[in-house]
This record gives sequence, C-alpha cells and structure tokens, in this order.
Amino acid sequence: MKTKILRALRESSEYISGQHLCDQFQVSRTAVWKAIEQLKREGYHIEAVRSKGYRLIESPDIISRAEIKSMMETRWAGQEVCYYDKTDSTNIQAKLGGENGAAHGTLFVADRQEAGRGRRGRSWESPRGVCIYMTILLRPDIEPSKAPMLTLVMALSVAEGIREQTGLAAEIKWPNDIILNKKKVCGILTEMSTEIEYINYVVTGVGINTNQERFSEEIKERATSLFIEGGSCVSRSRLIASVMKRYEENYGTFMRTKDLSGLYERYNSLLVNLNRDVRILETQGEYEAYARGINKKGELIVTTADGKEKHIFAGEVSVRGIYGYV
Ligand code: ATP
Repeated sequence: MKTKILRALRESSEYISGQHLCDQFQVSRTAVWKAIEQLKREGYHIEAVRSKGYRLIESPDIISRAEIKSMMETRWAGQEVCYYDKTDSTNIQAKLGGENGAAHGTLFVADRQEAGRGRRGRSWESPRGVCIYMTILLRPDIEPSKAPMLTLVMALSVAEGIREQTGLAAEIKWPNDIILNKKKVCGILTEMSTEIEYINYVVTGVGINTNQERFSEEIKERATSLFIEGGSCVSRSRLIASVMKRYEENYGTFMRTKDLSGLYERYNSLLVNLNRDVRILETQGEYEAYARGINKKGELIVTTADGKEKHIFAGEVSVRGIYGYV
C-alpha cells in the first residue's frame, strides 16, 4: 500500500484527494491515512490540505523496500527486493537466497554492511545511511566460464545509471570499478555457485559511494563519492532504480548472444584505460602494456612492450595507470 501511494504521489504534481487514493487502490480512508502518517514518520514531507488532498513536497534520501519499489521501472530486475537496515554483506544474503530458491532478479539491498567485501577477500568500507550496497541474484542459462562477463554488464549499467542520474562523467576501470575524477566511486563483485556444466546461480554485488563525505585514511587518496564530485545529495533509491533499468536492458542484450558483442562498443566508450599505458598486476608479477579496449569476451586487449597482442581475462588481474591508480 505504501509503495502504491508513494508512486501515485510522486507521479502527480497536483494534490491527490484521499478519496481518489481510496478508489484507485480499493482501500478505506483510514488505510490511506495510516499509510500517509507512516510515510511522514519515515521522513517524507507530505502536505495535506483539507479540500484538496495530499501532495509530496520532498523525499529525503530514504532507502527502504517501499521507496525502492516505488521507483522501479523494470519487468524482472529488482522487482523482488529484500531490504536490510544492517547485514553482513548483500552478497552473502543473495547467496543464501540463491540456495533457498529466491527468484532470478531478486535484489538484496542494505543501508549498512558489517562485512562488505571486494575481490580477493579484501574489505569494502560500508558506512550507514549514505551509500548503496546491493546485490542482484541471477539464474542465467550460460556456461560457467561466461559468468565473469556479467561483472562487465553491471559495470556498464552502473556507469550509465550514474551518468543519467547525476550528469557526472562516470568511467569504467576494467573490469569492475567505476571511476570519477581518477578515483573509485564504485566496486563490483561477482560470485557464483556452479556444477561442472551449468550455473546454479550468480550474484553480482555493487557498492556505490553515494553521499559519503569522507573516507578512512587508508583509502581516501583513491576513493570518492557522487556527493564529493557533484556537490549535491543523490537519491539512493532513484539511482538503484536507474541502474536496474539499464541492467535489465543490458542483460537482455548480453543474453541474446551470450557474450558482449552488443555491449563492448559502449563499454569501450566509457573505458578510462582506453588507449592508455597501463600496469597489469597479476599474481605472478606485473608488467606495463598499452590498453586497446575490450573484446566481445570481455578480455582486455593490450599490446606488450615487445609489440605482441595479449588478451587478458578478468579473473585475478588488476589494472593501474602508470603513475597512479588510474
Ligand atoms: P583494484 O583493481 O582497484 O585493486 P579491485 O577491483 O581488485 O580493485 P575491489 O575488490 O573492487 O578491488 O575493492 C576492494 C578494494 O577497494 C579495497 O582493497 C580498498 O582498497 C578499496 N575500497 C574499500 N572500500 C572502498 C570504498 N568504499 N570506496 C572505494 N574503495 C574502497
């Protein structure tokens, strides 16, 4: 009920009468009044004028199941939302969902994580009330070896969603980071459960530094947020909905060919490493090369110092600029 009323208020710039809401949703005046009171308690500024009805004046940066669902414009991605005020990590919750039969496209969202993780078990700083921590659960009919490409599908969707919502020039650092002003604003982590020939489920987790104003000593040189770069507060729920909309479209394109044929040109157009010298960090060591963009398998094509072309698979690799993080 709250979700429906919120959506109706948001979609109208005029007052909506209580009676109109009752008729539209087939509920009593009391039920409408109760839902409005609850929304006000959650921080929505709703004006009530006796002869006219209700009008939404302002929605602060609220993140809740109702708020997220009232913004969502997808068919399946994020249509089911599991929301936590606090959890260990949304990837952990999504994996539990994967084991317990949760539907393809279920989105797990938290206001705070106590054990947020990046690749190779590294931690992801996850303070309360200011950032996005979300994980989508997928049950794709693809070979397990193709699952890492889903990280790139999400990276493209996040960069596009940020651009759409904030106008900021978000770029992608291959394979899984989103960069603003040479600093990391978002990290993406894909994990999966597979049998030899098929995937049980895949989870792709996304942490977006949204309205965070400062970072720990450890990462402050390399991390930034949308608030720091854009100077204004961003609605987390609206950004989540925008990323999910892009993701649903991009995932559809991916599934038609089961590779990145339909996406790699757009990915490359946002690639911060494109046509740049980079340092490739592998478990065996590191070397410098010239990055030429990704191919349809999502591999980074580089030319090494001895002039050879090499295709790098995302796995355990990190890429850096020659003189710094990017
Ligand atoms: P890179 O290639 O930049 O090393 P990665 O993709 O291997 O990154 P991730 O797994 O995405 O790394 O993220 C983990 C790392 O990100 C941590 O080791 C830490 O340095 C940094 N980090 C942790 N929390 C945040 C945050 N909130 N914002 C930006 N960076 C963070």
